[in-house]
Amino acid sequence: MEKKIWVIRKKVRNQHPWVFSNEIRKIVGKPDIGDTVLVYDRDKFVGSGLYNPYSLISIRIYSKKEQDLNKTFFSEQIQKALKNREVILPNEKDFRLVYGESDGIPGLVLDKYQNHFALQTYSAGMDMRQNLIVQAMQDEMPIDCVIEKNDFRLRDAEKLERREGIIYGIPGTVVLSEADLKYKVNIQEGQKTGFYYDQRITRTKVKALCQNKNVLDVFCYTGGFTLNAAAGGAKAVLGIDASEPAIKLAQDNAIINQLNHVCKFQVADAFTILREFVKEHRRFDLIVLDPPPFFKSQREKSRGLRGYKDINLQAMKLLSDGGILVSSTCSHYLFWQDLLDVLTQAAQDIGKSFKIIDRTTQGPDHPVLLNMPESEYLRCFFLEVF
Ligand code: SAH
Repeated sequence: MEKKIWVIRKKVRNQHPWVFSNEIRKIVGKPDIGDTVLVYDRDKFVGSGLYNPYSLISIRIYSKKEQDLNKTFFSEQIQKALKNREVILPNEKDFRLVYGESDGIPGLVLDKYQNHFALQTYSAGMDMRQNLIVQAMQDEMPIDCVIEKNDFRLRDAEKLERREGIIYGIPGTVVLSEADLKYKVNIQEGQKTGFYYDQRITRTKVKALCQNKNVLDVFCYTGGFTLNAAAGGAKAVLGIDASEPAIKLAQDNAIINQLNHVCKFQVADAFTILREFVKEHRRFDLIVLDPPPFFKSQREKSRGLRGYKDINLQAMKLLSDGGILVSSTCSHYLFWQDLLDVLTQAAQDIGKSFKIIDRTTQGPDHPVLLNMPESEYLRCFFLEVF
């Protein structure tokens, strides 16, 4: 590798795997988009990285050594990830297998559904190496099918086209299991990669709180929280989502798990239906709010915060005495304190007191890198009416 880049970067010195474009001092050897480069900080070697001159994140470091990005590299990282999942999720077969930088493969996401895999590439370098990645995957585990789910906005920043489709094998019906519940997944048509593994821990904790309760699951998608509430002994659970296909799958999932006698589903816009329920004086003992990200950049933050405040305020009005609100956000730029502020303001506006009885974050198959705060994005508070 004769392509070398000198950078000035406090973050790299602190083990952060990204180098931004304004931190590059000198480039030797004309690296092209997606090339591997050797990165130096003054006379000190930093690591091997993937280069993209069009992205604000110009370099993503993938190794602290001089390392080619070959099949052996991918095989080793996938082996490590598989071993890690065996330890952290010993009873599970379905999970996020590779969470980018946190699993040593910057810009790659792999979700495992039995022997089907959903793949996302967030950087040009990974995108160009998809075939190599699939070959390495085949060496390490049985694979029926790999489906590319690359239709998302962040790819525009890397000057990558948005694409979806089968890149290996033939897709079949997939039913994943999580904590003894089964979920049909439509990887091709479904949102993101097909299932939201990141809420695994929150779902288990909700299940433990639902005995004999009347539960509302807003933004229920294919029924993750709804089914857990029902399996946890809820009297009745209502799942709401704006997506008709998601609700259809949720209904199937309730049947597969023999929980359809407790679960009801409704296609509706959350903002509208919560207001209607308030008008009708409906009450619920436990409400889950698991919205999509209401904003995706700092610029959109204040508008996004208003959305969070609005749904939390309406949900708080609907809680019965001693009721519990499980309020989540997956907006990268909405930090713990922001969510606390939103909840505090909403509680003040309706004159109710709450105590925080728990808080959760993304599951262990979405590990957070200590030196990469960007790898944490899921934050959730459990509030009980006090
Ligand atoms: N709780 C789910 C994941 C939720 S993802 C689980 O455990 O699997 C967010 C969901 O919000 C998506 O299913 C999307 O269809 C839904 N959604 C987005 N905007 C909405 C709106 N305005 N009203 C209702 N649902 C909405």
